[in-house]
Amino acid sequence: MVPVPDALAAILERTTALPTESVPLVEALGRVLAREVAADADLPGLPRSSVDGYAVRSADSAPDRRVLAEVTAGRLAHTQVGSGEAVAIMTGGTIPQGADAVVMVEDTDHAGEVVRLHRLPHAAENIHPPGMDLVRGQVVARAGERIGPSEVGLLASVGASEVPVVRRPRVAILATGDEVVEPWETPPPGAVRDSNRYALMASAQAAGATVVWHRHGRDDEALLASLVREALEVCDVLITSGGVSMGTRDLMKPLLERTGTVHFGRVSFKPGKPLTFATTAAGQLLFGLPGFPVSSLVTFEVFVRPALLKLGGHHRVLRPRVQARIVQPLRPDPLRLEYQRVRVRWEDGELVAHSTGLQASSRLLSIAGANGLLEIEPGTVVLPAGTRIPTLLLVDLDL
Ligand code: AMP
Ligand code: MG
Repeated sequence: MVPVPDALAAILERTTALPTESVPLVEALGRVLAREVAADADLPGLPRSSVDGYAVRSADSAPDRRVLAEVTAGRLAHTQVGSGEAVAIMTGGTIPQGADAVVMVEDTDHAGEVVRLHRLPHAAENIHPPGMDLVRGQVVARAGERIGPSEVGLLASVGASEVPVVRRPRVAILATGDEVVEPWETPPPGAVRDSNRYALMASAQAAGATVVWHRHGRDDEALLASLVREALEVCDVLITSGGVSMGTRDLMKPLLERTGTVHFGRVSFKPGKPLTFATTAAGQLLFGLPGFPVSSLVTFEVFVRPALLKLGGHHRVLRPRVQARIVQPLRPDPLRLEYQRVRVRWEDGELVAHSTGLQASSRLLSIAGANGLLEIEPGTVVLPAGTRIPTLLLVDLDL
């Protein structure tokens, strides 16, 4: 059995970011930047007023100034402001030559051609200097960052109307099992509805991948082999569910062995010991996930998601890890690192982990609503309530 960190390392060392493509800015939200983007010019380019008011000389002590002209945002004043003079200026207007401060309109009275200043400004007051927001050449977004709303704004401000992003991973999903029927069918005695295919499709999409192919196949060697061939025509990553344990109808492990190079087939991990990872000669990643619904989702979370994020160009692929206090005693697995599903809450100044209930690997309700995975080291001693345990937070946070 391979330890969890070695299994993860074996996956990530065989995973590299996919090629770059260009998308229009309006489609960039949620994509991953492939190259850093820098400001093409200073912003603002010229000194500009941050208020509506009057541009004046701060060294001038006269309260009354003759108003020469008006500058609105986007228009340049071709006037020189001298002693005893002012130019009316609107927010965003470029400061005219000679002026070095702006008095807010609220601090003035304007009658005819003359404005009276109720207070004298100090130098640079209410002026945004060139380069205050961005300096030409300054990096506004880095490769590997997910583009959020503020990045979209920054990309627009620096003129990046076409954005270099990493291509989304193409994922194929194959659910196996004679007992598995479609969600719209009524399962005959002994059968179960296919929840894995749909949960794994959703998980892949949530990790930024595109699902390009998905099927269910009965436990038939020739059928599964042909489905795997079909999937590999179109995908970067094939995720299968079921058929990797030791039963006589568990056909996926030998099939993955014939299809590519298997790097591990048993992980010291709970739930999901039989997780199998292989690569094809063309570099496609193959993940054989166990069939129990919770096992397949937890192995996806711990092993497949980081691989999809890395393929998708993310630089940070692991969930944030914190310490959370358990409220009930826990019995560790004697041999395997165990991931238990919890709801983590902030209580009295610390993170507290509440179990989602029975941790059976068939019980999907134990993962629904979970926002954390306790990482419980193997051992023989019961961990008392109050123990602080490393916990993966199932959120997108750069801690
Ligand atoms: P397996 O790993 O193929 O032995 O499957 C173990 C158990 O997981 C099966 O007995 C089913 O109860 C369940 N299972 C397998 N595939 C699915 C699926 N696609 N959706 C829901 N449950 C499944
Ligand atoms: Mg099966």
